[in-house]
Amino acid sequence: MAWEDRQGVYNFNPGPAALPEAVLRRAQEELPSYAGGGLSVLEMSHRSQAYDEIQARAQNGLRRLLGIPDTHRVLFLQGGASLQFAMVPLNFIPEGGAAGYVLTGSWSEKAYQEAERVGLRAAVAASTKEAGYRRIPDWSEVRDEPDWAYVHITTNNTIVGSQWHHLHPSLSVPLVADMSSDICSRPVRVEDYHLIYAGAQKNIGPAGVTVVIVREDWLGQAEEIAKARRLPTMLRYAVHAKNDSRYNTPPVFAVYLVALVAEWTLEQGGLSAMEARNREKADLIYGALDESDGFYQGVVEPGSRSWMNATFRIADPDVEKRFLEEARAKGFLGLAGHRSVGGVRVSMYNAVPVEACAKLREFMDDFRRRHR
Ligand SMILES: *Cc1c(COP(=O)(O)O)cnc(C)c1O
Repeated sequence: MAWEDRQGVYNFNPGPAALPEAVLRRAQEELPSYAGGGLSVLEMSHRSQAYDEIQARAQNGLRRLLGIPDTHRVLFLQGGASLQFAMVPLNFIPEGGAAGYVLTGSWSEKAYQEAERVGLRAAVAASTKEAGYRRIPDWSEVRDEPDWAYVHITTNNTIVGSQWHHLHPSLSVPLVADMSSDICSRPVRVEDYHLIYAGAQKNIGPAGVTVVIVREDWLGQAEEIAKARRLPTMLRYAVHAKNDSRYNTPPVFAVYLVALVAEWTLEQGGLSAMEARNREKADLIYGALDESDGFYQGVVEPGSRSWMNATFRIADPDVEKRFLEEARAKGFLGLAGHRSVGGVRVSMYNAVPVEACAKLREFMDDFRRRHR
């Protein structure tokens, strides 16, 4: 019954977002009893052998997908990407030190502000704020000072709808990336980063778990800094790493879903296949903009467009309002732009099928013909 309700519903929510239907069905099937053990994942000990296996599946799935080298650890933390905004500077900027932040949108601003809020020195390594965040800077515009602890970037700007498409950095200091809204959407060279973090609820699972991929040889330094600063235990990466993400009770069900999503993504052909699919979906939606003679106005410069979140405006606010209402009535959900910017945002993460974007494209073309 409930599965039938999903027919004709196209989930473009920005996060929490669509999950693969195969994953939901599997979770439903296994809900009362995991692996024949007679217990639900919801009610088992995080120290049990069954959960050991679940967490290993999630870690190994991400390792295989992203090609994470042995130099890096995979942690499952809580507090969302937003807590990482504080944990990264607290653990890695030593007393008297600083770090550089590349400002490309609201989330990167929040990361930058949080570093300052916890009393550490954050510098702007580059910013496209004056351009209304409509573009991503080139690496040649990114400043790096030898005494910075790291440079922080946001690989996909979920709200404005821009994304880095030239990811090979040329920096002399460690690189840290917030990949919350595009992790696992395309291949990435993990070895280029000292630390990657992502709230799971966009591309790799449900809300409640944050994936952190961190270079092991950086953790010793973090431990010293955390000790000197008397950081609370839960804010220390070194503690979470030593305890294999089980210093306290981890969000076991969320980690289980990350395992299922990672395995589903591998079955789809891994990240090269995801990239091809995501490109196809983005081409459908941006094609509607580019062939609309200015009816749909893309927010971001073409070279910086996100394949995950496409944003656009319709010049007449009444028509834009009608667009969102009609879309909703036709089953296209989650299309309203972020409350801070308005307009329309099409979030098309990994689990959004090509068919959903094809249907939305048809609707967009039809709507334009009827309203110009
Ligand atoms: C959604 C998002 C966040 C916030 O994540 P929470 O898990 O809600 O804290 C941070 N950064 C980016 C790029 C995001 O898309």
